[in-house]
Amino acid sequence: MGTEVSVYLWHDDPAKGRQAVDAIFAEMARVDEHMSTYKEESRMSEINRDAAARPVVAGDELFGLIARALDISVLTRGAFDITYDSVGRHYDFREGRRPDEETIAEELPLIDYRFVQLNRDDGTVRFAREGVRINLGGIAKGYAVERGIAIARRYGVEHARVTAGGDTRLLGDRRGVPWMVGVQDPRNEDDVAVTIPLQDEAISTSGDYERYFDEDGERYHHIIVPSTGTPAGEVHSVTIIGPDAVITDALSTSVFVMGVDDGLKLIATLPDYEGIVIDAAGEMFYSTGLQTPE
Ligand code: ADP
Ligand code: MG
Repeated sequence: MGTEVSVYLWHDDPAKGRQAVDAIFAEMARVDEHMSTYKEESRMSEINRDAAARPVVAGDELFGLIARALDISVLTRGAFDITYDSVGRHYDFREGRRPDEETIAEELPLIDYRFVQLNRDDGTVRFAREGVRINLGGIAKGYAVERGIAIARRYGVEHARVTAGGDTRLLGDRRGVPWMVGVQDPRNEDDVAVTIPLQDEAISTSGDYERYFDEDGERYHHIIVPSTGTPAGEVHSVTIIGPDAVITDALSTSVFVMGVDDGLKLIATLPDYEGIVIDAAGEMFYSTGLQTPE
């Protein structure tokens, strides 16, 4: 997946346990492949190539995930937007490449989730404009870890932890004690900013230290503000906790774009979700549900 994937689980039968781990890895690799925009023959590539010219059948899984992504765009007033990729594709963090102002000006009008039209009757996706592109990178890992846990359940597993990059989904507890999940210090790889005891929940962290390059004192990283086409600058990391990893993944990206105030205001409206934001000065902010009661 271009990222570290890990699975911990318990099973009374070691052979079954090993089978479960293999099946989880296989499923996550399948999801990664299915969502990929890099593989020419993937359905995602077909959508990006053809959906402006004709409706493209997405298949239930992609259709459902695109629909959820669009719902989150509405919820976050466009902070989360899978069409960010019109500009986003011009960044190459490994090569240290970024779009110049002209390219951004040209591509920016193509970023708008409302250009993505879903037809439930025939399960197709269509783009309202030529040049629109979508990328599910802000939601796919959350989906992959949810799928991993679903497979674990199918094998009768009751205690598991599945992680892909910054996204983790927990099943049950760690056999009598909570799972302890650390949130990395965004400016020190070896340090943990805070450790959170959790069970039966998802936790996602978006940071500006995962995929980035520095140029002339500026950090260019992979979370893009849809209205400007440039990386979001207000915070260093966002962690979201809640029942569904698809949502925690999308919301961690969204709150990163929205910043401390607007982001935590949004989280306050979602009873099942909590958040921790570390801003550019290193200060930590907690959503209301994580604060010490007065
Ligand atoms: P990770 O990939 O480490 O889980 P995130 O969950 O923060 O990190 O997702 C970042 C990814 O989301 C980017 O690599 C890109 O694919 C995608 N993305 C970037 N900006 C946006 C945005 N504004 N809306 C939706 N997706 C985005
Ligand atoms: Mg995310």
